Amino acid sequence: MTLTLYNTLTRHKDVFRPIDPNNVRIYACGPTVYDYVHIGNGRMAVVFDLLFRVLRQTYGPDHVTYVRNITDVDDKINARAAERGIAIGELTQTTARQYQEDVAALGCLPPTVEPRATRHIGEMKELIETLVRKGHAYVAQAHVLFHVPSMPDYGKLSNRSLSELEAGARVDVAPYKRDPMDFVLWKPSKPGEPAWPSPCGIELPGRPGWHIECSAMAEKHLGVIFDIHGGGIDLVFPHHENEIAQSRSAHGTPLMANYWLHNGFLTAPEGEKMSKSLGNFTTIHALRQLWPGEALRLALLSTHYRQPLPWSEKVIADARRTLDHWYELTADALPGAPVCADVLEALADDLNTPQAIAALHALRSEAAKGAKPAAACLKASAGLMGLLQEAPADWKAWRPAAMVIDEQKVEALVTARNAARKGRNYAEADRIRDELTAMGIQLKDAKDASTGEIVTTWEVRR
Ligand code: AMP
Ligand code: ZN
Repeated sequence: MTLTLYNTLTRHKDVFRPIDPNNVRIYACGPTVYDYVHIGNGRMAVVFDLLFRVLRQTYGPDHVTYVRNITDVDDKINARAAERGIAIGELTQTTARQYQEDVAALGCLPPTVEPRATRHIGEMKELIETLVRKGHAYVAQAHVLFHVPSMPDYGKLSNRSLSELEAGARVDVAPYKRDPMDFVLWKPSKPGEPAWPSPCGIELPGRPGWHIECSAMAEKHLGVIFDIHGGGIDLVFPHHENEIAQSRSAHGTPLMANYWLHNGFLTAPEGEKMSKSLGNFTTIHALRQLWPGEALRLALLSTHYRQPLPWSEKVIADARRTLDHWYELTADALPGAPVCADVLEALADDLNTPQAIAALHALRSEAAKGAKPAAACLKASAGLMGLLQEAPADWKAWRPAAMVIDEQKVEALVTARNAARKGRNYAEADRIRDELTAMGIQLKDAKDASTGEIVTTWEVRR
């Protein structure tokens, strides 16, 4: 099977050839842990988990090393710990565990290594000192900065030239920077912030910049050049560009990773990126109260990973219905069936999940006609995508932990549905009923004996 992957670095789909097929190495930039993460972060985790699974299937489960880091030193973490009056370590301990639980509920396998930034400070300092020694970085006012013009081909990943970037650099540049593009490798810590003894003879204690964390962790666990590096599309510039600059300059290498993969944004209904800072987010934790994790996973995989994914209740409800059917049809499917070639082929084509799901639907049709091998194949093939992993009885018995109902919204929808019916717009009335069903609301229509009017009541389905 030939696996092709869209490589941000070359800007086309490349055939994947690992450096060492006995140890395929992949690094994905995980979350900054200061609170429950949102479902956009979940998309990144699920996409790279799928890639991990496809690589394991291709090269053998013991021949893939997947590193997904946890950023546990950051201004947002400091601010949140102060706000809550707890120690920084206590906050990151809790939020990192919550993250692991959330993504496990989305069907993500534990990565081979899940390194934390604060446990790699020594490696970061070493890398920083190498960069200074080689003339790629300098000390200024207790900071260490990477000097971007020291790398003539900086900007290759994001396809921007140095001069173009210089022109666009902000005007309010810190006075200690030699060049507006220079970025922080190490900075002094303010009182109360996490602090470590600084490198390069700097007396004030300090802490690392974000980019150096990933360069150090990737090198420690995967080596100087490895196969795949990934994350969300927002990381291409400057984060990944700067990781490349650091790692390549420190080691004099032509590449940091051979393939760079980026997932598109999961967007809020209005179309903008879901993010904590915009306040338009839904946490995985909240969604897990209302939907089984696998329905969320299938919803996340229903769009190709490089496309934007507009998140909605409908996407989840559709995924859940699909899984209801698949579980029903595969309830007594025998284990050990092969993965369907069409599914494998679709996934090998730059993780084409919509096509893989279409192939699963084709198997479902066969299985629905009573074809036992098709049912077994459906189970095995969905299994490769991390789906149909529950016992069918458990799936059926799944209930929301606690319904959080927006009563005003429900009332407004019920009113709108009744108005649609009065206007004989039955398609719209049905659509609204489906929307309510997806919210876990069951409608009851009854004729009022005295007026003859239809009265609609609703209740929460358990
Ligand atoms: P952060 O904690 O914001 O650094 O994000 C952790 C990971 O999730 C990174 O790989 C991001 O690129 C990715 N990510 C964040 N927001 C979204 C989103 N709305 N859609 C897809 N991926 C995202
Ligand atoms: Zn990173």
